[in-house]
Amino acid sequence: MKLIALGGTDYVGASCYFLHMEGVNLLLDCGTDFRRTKRLLPDFDFLLRSGELSSLSQLDAVLLSHGHSDHAGALPDLLSMADMRVYASQLTVALLDNLLLERPLPYLKDETLFKRFGRESAQLTALQHIRTVPFRSSFQLGPLQITFFEAGHVPGAAMIYIEGQHETFLYTGDFSCHDTRLTQGAYLPPFVKPQTVLMCGLHAKHPRYSPYSALSGIERAVRLCEAHGEPLYIRAPQATKGLELAHHVADVCPDIPVYLERDIWELTDKLCGQHLPAQRPQFYPESCWSGQSNRPSVHIGGTQGSRRFRHVIEGNFSLHADYPDCVALMRRLHPATVLVVHAPADRDGRYDQQLRADLAPVDVIYPELDTPYCIEYTK
Ligand SMILES: [Zn+2]
Repeated sequence: MKLIALGGTDYVGASCYFLHMEGVNLLLDCGTDFRRTKRLLPDFDFLLRSGELSSLSQLDAVLLSHGHSDHAGALPDLLSMADMRVYASQLTVALLDNLLLERPLPYLKDETLFKRFGRESAQLTALQHIRTVPFRSSFQLGPLQITFFEAGHVPGAAMIYIEGQHETFLYTGDFSCHDTRLTQGAYLPPFVKPQTVLMCGLHAKHPRYSPYSALSGIERAVRLCEAHGEPLYIRAPQATKGLELAHHVADVCPDIPVYLERDIWELTDKLCGQHLPAQRPQFYPESCWSGQSNRPSVHIGGTQGSRRFRHVIEGNFSLHADYPDCVALMRRLHPATVLVVHAPADRDGRYDQQLRADLAPVDVIYPELDTPYCIEYTK
């Protein structure tokens, strides 16, 4: 098999991995990168420049792990260049318009209103293109059998297991091994035995990282606002994180009303429509707030509303597997090769080495952008 990262190597954004396996050309995810106030796409053109493909229409399918913009945002752009099949879980499709239209859009400096409108209608067309895949039941693409398994992280997120005649491959996508307020942790049955794993290991280079320390700071701020009787604004980087936070706040201080900005409120509605327990009695849409500044209330959103508040905190925390989880999963799967992506660069290489040591004798590769990796196993 051959794997080429077209984006999302040692950074979060524009995740897109070309996989050639037993004659089938696949793209695993198709995301955008917003970090530099510009909207960046994966380097699709590399496939043509390098002679890997003579046309993008030679791509047989795109498999989407989940609906965050760093994994699915470039789908409308790709489909405007070539027609191909797209597969995603049913819940990802149901949430995709919420998750795709993430907040970075209004901040784009180079974008006219017209361009944005054009892309939103392209996004709707892209949504109609997607075939939904049930979890844990396989479908065939040429000689390949493909199965989606729950990945945790956000509702609908999938790990994608690909079995060929001679090779087996797992793409983890973004994953979490622990249950969150909105979704259960990753599930892979014992028969999943990939030779090669492409792992989105955000914390695979952070041996001491704990996702719980970030939440405790937020918890402290909520308790303070309750004690002082004042509103608190929590800035959430994504709607899914915003809703996770809302549940966390409701657990910590059940008497405080939690006001949700529009995209989070809409996500809550959508999840309820999918029979998921996303709503709580203390949640209200932000528009219902009376503006009382001498009563405790928590407000969660992007940045639109934050200027009205005296107390504003960042509500960032991780929905990704931490270092011990990444190591434990790879030890359990015991592949021959692990390619680690979606993991920030490690300047002195110390943690690259630590992961290699902890996973030995697994061959750990940190793929570079636009670089073909040919992986072959001798029997
Ligand atoms: Zn991601």
